[in-house]
Amino acid sequence: MKKEVKIIGAGLAGSEAAYQLAKRQIKVHLYEQKGVKRHSAFHTDDFAELICSNSLRSDNLENAAGLLKAEMAALDSLIIKSARLNKVEAGSSLAVDRHGFSEYITQTLKNDPYIEIHNEEVTSIDQATPTIIAAGPLCEGKLSQAIKDLIHTDYLYFFDAIAPIIEKDSIDFSKAYYKSRYDEEGEGDYINCPMNKEEFFNFYNELINAKVIEVKDVDKEIYFEGCMPFEVMAKRGIKTLLFGPMKPVGLAKEGIKPYAVVQLRKDNAIDTLYNIVGFQTHLTYGEQKRIIKMIPGLENANIVRYGVMHRNTYINSPKVLNAFYQMKEYPNLFFAGQISGVEGYIESAASGLYAALNMAQYLNDDKMRALGKDTIIGSMAAYIANEALDKLIPMNANFGIFQTSEAINKKQKRQEYVKISLRKIEEYKTQLNGRITF
Ligand SMILES: Cc1cc2nc3c(=O)[nH]c(=O)nc-3n(C[C@H](O)[C@H](O)[C@H](O)COP(=O)(O)OP(=O)(O)OC[C@H]3O[C@@H](n4cnc5c(N)ncnc54)[C@H](O)[C@@H]3O)c2cc1C
Repeated sequence: MKKEVKIIGAGLAGSEAAYQLAKRQIKVHLYEQKGVKRHSAFHTDDFAELICSNSLRSDNLENAAGLLKAEMAALDSLIIKSARLNKVEAGSSLAVDRHGFSEYITQTLKNDPYIEIHNEEVTSIDQATPTIIAAGPLCEGKLSQAIKDLIHTDYLYFFDAIAPIIEKDSIDFSKAYYKSRYDEEGEGDYINCPMNKEEFFNFYNELINAKVIEVKDVDKEIYFEGCMPFEVMAKRGIKTLLFGPMKPVGLAKEGIKPYAVVQLRKDNAIDTLYNIVGFQTHLTYGEQKRIIKMIPGLENANIVRYGVMHRNTYINSPKVLNAFYQMKEYPNLFFAGQISGVEGYIESAASGLYAALNMAQYLNDDKMRALGKDTIIGSMAAYIANEALDKLIPMNANFGIFQTSEAINKKQKRQEYVKISLRKIEEYKTQLNGRITF
């Protein structure tokens, strides 16, 4: 039988899935609507566009996001390969030049002889065609309705906001300075805008009273804790900022400790653009301008992209999917990415990778081999398919859902988890070898 797979969406999940299937010589029809229709949150027609932050989070193996990247790299992830090639300095995090990152992925997929790109909007789903649905959290219109019909229920949702980007040239370096947290010696990768107590309280009072863009047709605004708008966080109380995104700890300059700090992270390799860390917002554009200009060093900031907020939809996977990201009702259909209920860039890409490896086995008529909860990839897949959950709450990679039956030294839990998970990934590759190659 000729093996062909349709992938809907060339975002982080769909791009990774296309690469993995093509690598196994499975013909991929990759459908991406951007050339003909683009959601307002996207700014380019490139694949795997990073919609907000340019950070793929921690690169430390003892952090679940770091370990997830290591697992993906061991499985030859295209997303991780591109991230390494397009890395920009960001302390212990892996941040990328967003244009270089997407460009590399787009070209790799466009040049792959096993991948045929279809620049069109998909409006329906054929249950008889092996398909990976990776249309992302902003999926709308006819496809959105087709998915609803398929899963016989409404989507779940939360709101996600984007942080503004500003030009480095417009920053006043007589007030702002480079420093990474606790790094006393080096210049540091982050730009810091320090505030004294009075400046902070003025800023805070203006922020909590600033005008936000009204959200239409929504009964309730629900946020994912990690992406909560800055102004919503502020309204929870002053300490939420002082112990959160504006924490001054480790950022003293010449022995002077600021009361609060706003940090900016490099957004492109040529070092001209910076995004404001943790400042995802849905203030009106006028208010963003006014509030940002209250930050010492940013009085003349030139904002090249404003923050916005979007409804982020996903399916209630425990009712619909098994732990292979495959539909229980229609085995030809797999979901991947944020729409499946994982949360975050690398989590979305990882689910695309795993869904593709599962699809490859499924098409081989093989029993699919599961990655266990003793890997980050496997623990996320088990989480989104956990039937004990009535309503799925999206989840970042974390060690709270990681489980191992092996005896471990509890004092060195994280180090032990790292060893176990990377060994399990190698065992998985060995088990699959001969049937799908690595
Ligand atoms: C506003 C917002 C901000 C976010 N910020 C962050 C962040 O800072 N950090 C983070 O880790 N995560 C963030 N996320 C969460 C998540 O990581 C991203 O949404 C991520 O891009 C999800 O990857 P994906 O592959 O699932 O979907 P996407 O990257 O959205 O890719 C889906 C693709 O499918 C295409 N598509 C959709 N419908 C169709 C159709 N009918 N036919 C053909 N193609 C179609 C789209 O054009 C798109 O290219 C954010 C999400 C939102 C909504």
